[in-house]
Amino acid sequence: MPAQIHEERTQGLMALIARGLVETSAQRTASSLGDRSQYIGMSDIGRALECPRAAVGRKLFGNGEKLVHQHDLPSLLARQLRLQRGHWFEAGIAQIFRQQRLPVIEQLEIVTSHHGVPIRAHLDFVFASTVGQPTVRILELKSCENIPATLYSSYETQVYGQVGLLHSLWDQPAFGVHGELEKQGGSGFTFPQICREKFGVEMPVHPSEVDIEAWVLCLSMSDAKAFGPYLSEDTMLALCLNKAEELWLEFDASKVSGAGLDGLATAQGFHPLCSWCEFNADCPKFDGLDQPQWSDTLERLKDLKARQGELEVEISEIEDGLRTAYALSDVGGSWINAGRHRFRVSAQNGRRTLNKEQLRLELLAVLGEEKTDAIIARCESEGKPFDRLTVSRINMRS
Ligand code: SF4
Repeated sequence: MPAQIHEERTQGLMALIARGLVETSAQRTASSLGDRSQYIGMSDIGRALECPRAAVGRKLFGNGEKLVHQHDLPSLLARQLRLQRGHWFEAGIAQIFRQQRLPVIEQLEIVTSHHGVPIRAHLDFVFASTVGQPTVRILELKSCENIPATLYSSYETQVYGQVGLLHSLWDQPAFGVHGELEKQGGSGFTFPQICREKFGVEMPVHPSEVDIEAWVLCLSMSDAKAFGPYLSEDTMLALCLNKAEELWLEFDASKVSGAGLDGLATAQGFHPLCSWCEFNADCPKFDGLDQPQWSDTLERLKDLKARQGELEVEISEIEDGLRTAYALSDVGGSWINAGRHRFRVSAQNGRRTLNKEQLRLELLAVLGEEKTDAIIARCESEGKPFDRLTVSRINMRS
């Protein structure tokens, strides 16, 4: 097949997938979360703590996007795959819980208001049991590129809000499952009522008699880690509600004045979400000069870096294959000659490293804190300052 036709077909397939992802994302958001411009959700609060501008942007413009220019295809595809991975994980985990017949409510919705601000929390999974001690467990799923060592504060805020609302609204008609609430004529259940309705169990009248915890399960494509437990805390709930109010007022003011995102505070310092943020094209955090002559160079650098990653994977696969071939050849340490090259696999000692923390503890036990710190300070050296090049993607909104 001629190269140009091959390229056109490849691009056609990718564009089809990208458009499909955008459409299903919009449909899923509408059916599971409703119109997000009509309330403040727990994830909005987490986002507002990180970047008020991005949080208001999502409220004003949603995160819907369109494929307008073919050259935006790779970045749109990357963003959509990243966004939708979470939904796919959720469907897979839900399937596991259903198969195990666990008493779990999926997408429990809590509807409330604070100082007139409409607030909704959507809880991915809520388990309820009265076997032994009455127990409720909230499980929030998060999909991550890499599993973090500690949980991001925006995620923690979100689950503190969820567990705080469940606890504080326990006996209020604030609970339902999105979609089912409308069928009930909009009036919700209390939490004990919804447990009776769903599982036929009688929960205590007061949440103080119930063991309630929230957990976050972070999932990447090849790893998983649970963070928790998070318990209901009045101060954390107050923080969430106040942040919700602040965000609602900022959203309202931007809407009424038509000022868009002008004048809103941005995330400070390095923020990993900035490269994915759909409002980064005109974000004041990246104010700078226009020098379009560097565009091709930056595109080329991006392509080379992408190829570098692919090459590294390919190199490692070939090296693993050669190691396996050598082990199976049983040549007793000899070289294997192959054309103009030869190869051999030999055992090497592991790299020696110094455990600085362990050394400090050992020195502390003998010399005490002052001398230990002085010795470590004398032995530490700082590398020469260097110039770091940061290249960041600009996400054009259609
Ligand atoms: S680019 Fe970063 S700082 Fe700017 S709005 Fe987006 S998240 Fe906030």
